[in-house]
Amino acid sequence: MIRIGLMGGTFNPIHIGHLISADEIIDLFHLEEVIVVPCCLPPHKEHGELIDASHRFAMASLATASNPKLVVSPLEIERGGKSYTIDTIRALKKEVGGELETYFIVGVDVFADLASWKGVEDLLTGSHFVVTNRPGYDESQLVERLNRDVTPRFPKLRFNLKARATKGLIHEISVEGSPCSIFLVHIPSLDISSTEIRRRVAQGRPIKYLVPPEVEQYINKHKLYT
Ligand code: ATP
Repeated sequence: MIRIGLMGGTFNPIHIGHLISADEIIDLFHLEEVIVVPCCLPPHKEHGELIDASHRFAMASLATASNPKLVVSPLEIERGGKSYTIDTIRALKKEVGGELETYFIVGVDVFADLASWKGVEDLLTGSHFVVTNRPGYDESQLVERLNRDVTPRFPKLRFNLKARATKGLIHEISVEGSPCSIFLVHIPSLDISSTEIRRRVAQGRPIKYLVPPEVEQYINKHKLYT
């Protein structure tokens, strides 16, 4: 089995919160690599401040260049239109074959809307999920929320909490009838978002140390977010 992580998002721009989270999860789950997949158009977000995909892809590539376990995929950008995770996972499985075990990495802020995602049932039976904490979001009631929001719409999907204590891992939520699980992990909490970075650039404030130096240089060179 090849165990790989997938991290979807707008990456507008990529920042150290994304990188630390990916690296931590490679270690916790013994993953071969994490594929960072910048979306073309996010299905659940405003597009107002979204810069061209080529810039977002370039910054993600620069940010991950020094880590052989982080790779950036143009799959969603090349597919065009709204980017749905289920389509991306299906495409990867088709490309790599049955030997692929995927871990979709997502912040609890994004995962909270799971019930509205395209192909929820196929997603939860076809891929593990690794849900990370984010400052300002409560992850303690996740199982209750899944049973409240997802199960009434998809009665086959029921969620149970399984205790598990490994390093950094908070707990595992099993999905009845699925070989896959949802892992809720606790990563070093960083109150950083792309929104905050865009805001700082627009205000002429520093972003040093919030993004890798190559990303900062790229933003300056192309006068992004001003
Ligand atoms: P924006 O502020 O523009 O909404 P963002 O910072 O949330 O962007 P995204 O590209 O939308 O970044 O996020 C991609 C994924 O990374 C999401 O699953 C999100 O929850 C997660 N993520 C973003 N920032 C952090 C962080 N600081 N710590 C952990 N996970 C994060």
